Amino acid sequence: MTGNVDIGRLIAPVNRLAGVGPGRADRLAHLLGRESAAETRIFDLLNHLPSGISDRRTLVKVADAPERGTATYTVRITGHEASRTPKGPVRAFGEDETGKLAIVFFRGGYKWIVGALPVGEWVRVSGDTTWRDGRPQVIHPDATAIVDGPDAPIGPGFGLEPTYPMTQGLTPGVLAGAIGAALEMLADIPEWLDGALMTRESWPGFADAYRTVHRPEEVGDILPTSPARRRLAYDELLASQLALAIVRDRERTRRGKARRWDPAAIDALEASLPFALTPSQRLAIAEVSADLAAEHRMTRLVQGDVGSGKTMVAMVAAAMAAGDGGQTAIMAPTDLVARQHYETLARFLEPQGVPVRLLTGRISDAERARAMADLADGAAKVAVGTHALFQGAVEFADLALVVVDEQHRFGVSQRMALTQKGPTSDLLVMTATPIPRTLVLASYGDMDVSRLTDKPAGRQPIETRVVSDTRLGDIIERLRAAIGRGEKAYWVCPLVEPGEESELTAAVSRHKVLTERLGPVVGLVHGKTPLGEREDVMAAFKDGDVSVLVATTVVEVGVDVPDATIMVIENAERFGLSQLHQLRGRVGRGSKPSTCLLLYRSPLGAVARQRLDTMRATNDGFRIAEDDLKLRGEGELLGTRQSGAPQFHVADLDRDGDLLQMASDDARLVVATDRDLTGERGRPLRALLTLYERRRVIERLRSG
Ligand code: ADP
Ligand code: MG
Repeated sequence: MTGNVDIGRLIAPVNRLAGVGPGRADRLAHLLGRESAAETRIFDLLNHLPSGISDRRTLVKVADAPERGTATYTVRITGHEASRTPKGPVRAFGEDETGKLAIVFFRGGYKWIVGALPVGEWVRVSGDTTWRDGRPQVIHPDATAIVDGPDAPIGPGFGLEPTYPMTQGLTPGVLAGAIGAALEMLADIPEWLDGALMTRESWPGFADAYRTVHRPEEVGDILPTSPARRRLAYDELLASQLALAIVRDRERTRRGKARRWDPAAIDALEASLPFALTPSQRLAIAEVSADLAAEHRMTRLVQGDVGSGKTMVAMVAAAMAAGDGGQTAIMAPTDLVARQHYETLARFLEPQGVPVRLLTGRISDAERARAMADLADGAAKVAVGTHALFQGAVEFADLALVVVDEQHRFGVSQRMALTQKGPTSDLLVMTATPIPRTLVLASYGDMDVSRLTDKPAGRQPIETRVVSDTRLGDIIERLRAAIGRGEKAYWVCPLVEPGEESELTAAVSRHKVLTERLGPVVGLVHGKTPLGEREDVMAAFKDGDVSVLVATTVVEVGVDVPDATIMVIENAERFGLSQLHQLRGRVGRGSKPSTCLLLYRSPLGAVARQRLDTMRATNDGFRIAEDDLKLRGEGELLGTRQSGAPQFHVADLDRDGDLLQMASDDARLVVATDRDLTGERGRPLRALLTLYERRRVIERLRSG
């Protein structure tokens, strides 16, 4: 093979196709979701896959006409009827030995129809059957042909016909014509898929796959599970995974520093903890330590349910880096969580000779200046703060590790800015958002993932109850008893749509009612509470005389109040599954059994009921995330908080999730063996990247 693989015809705009003028090109752009006709490529049109199929092969007798749907009849024409009103239809009538069929036309003149379907001729008609006055009729048949007799063989036009999602201003015939012309552009190009894989999966080649899907010979050909469709889905997933793998490969090999530390120091740190690490914490720490010790730059996601103990993983990693003289910056989502992390880390790390500094907006200027000086000259080894503080003038002597807690609050560009503070630094991202495996792969294919799958020993199970809000009185009495035992409770207020005003009102009035009933032990935080006041209330809830915390959904991510044993969520039916699970994770952290009360207002919709049932049935964050995915679809799960979740056209993560894993492995192997894509499989793979518009990655390949 010489030179590049020629896919020029496929990436040309659709107006190059015969029969596609400017008007039709615009309609196609609209149909395919493209900005303009010029950006709508022939390849995009090929990826507009059928959503259904009409089967015209089976002949039916008139007496066996279906209730509705496509059918093909063979009838002898017996007569015609002109339209009775200006807009009325012209009818032709035909019959076989079992009954009478009407063929109806709202367009086309009487004369033309009489000529096309002459009396006495046998006619084969195929189309959508409907009923009128107890008699079957076909309005505007999709196919008609004069045949020799009732037993004439099935001719062209009476086979399988795919049907497509449509848009206004485009007829099925025009779309079919354009797709037909696009199929002509398919040339046999060198295969980019691995031959063994194709054999194993019985996948056709690239061109054949498109021909099969658009010109099906069996109904099964267009199903998402057909080998042709799976192959095309795989192409799309491979393109995205390959792009991620190439970027990752370039990042990794750019620079990095192998860190060395004294294992005895880490043993000493672990021995000083008041508990034993869980098996998953150990595994995650081992994975992180291998990354730190290697020359490549680490990019690792630590994913663990709320309360799984992610902070310990970060802490041990920081100790390892410090053992090599390196510094760690830990980014917390809020000031309060930063302070909490600081207290934990300082308590365990400082006795081991690892100085920790806090950098939040609430420390004094003098403290801040001192902390910055210590970080700049390397005296301090760990800095804990919020991301805003790291955007400014903070300098590090040797930033070895950046830890980002609760990743979804940080954009990709912020993450990149952070790692620039330490050109060789490793990155550890911690998240409790239980992102399903397929989604991690699709969105973060460029990250390694460590999972904390078990919870620290001694955790009390959380009993979840679904309760009608008519029982508010009973619940308040329960709270009173719990407070008497020294326990604490969160009370999350109705999420009222859409304005925050009303949400606020709800929280304020709930606070008032609870204070009246329970006394001055009820605190309140909501979105409009000033930051300082909010922190004071949270601190009083953690250690002081606030026993019940009324909050809107601002309940701080990552706050750890071990005495809290009750979580009340009002109007729980309005929350998403993952959100409910996150909120529930605020309790069950201490030694006493905990309860989560999900209050609902009748009537409950089916989806809401299912959500609450799932919550009651399981406390497994991964299962909940999978259910959430099913109930909401992957796009919405990440919501607006998390951008960069890729959109696929041909592949569907629910259905083709298994392919994603294969594509990911495949892509890594390709990059490991042919990182510049110049080999025999590499060059066709470049074409694949071009087809799927991974332009920036290709530019990167060019620049080496
Ligand atoms: P998250 O994963 O939600 O960030 P944290 O790191 O805040 O969890 O840990 C939650 C609580 O569990 C903390 O109080 C922490 O001290 C405690 N913890 C962490 N690891 C263990 C362990 N192995 N055994 C017992 N308790 C642990
Ligand atoms: Mg945490």
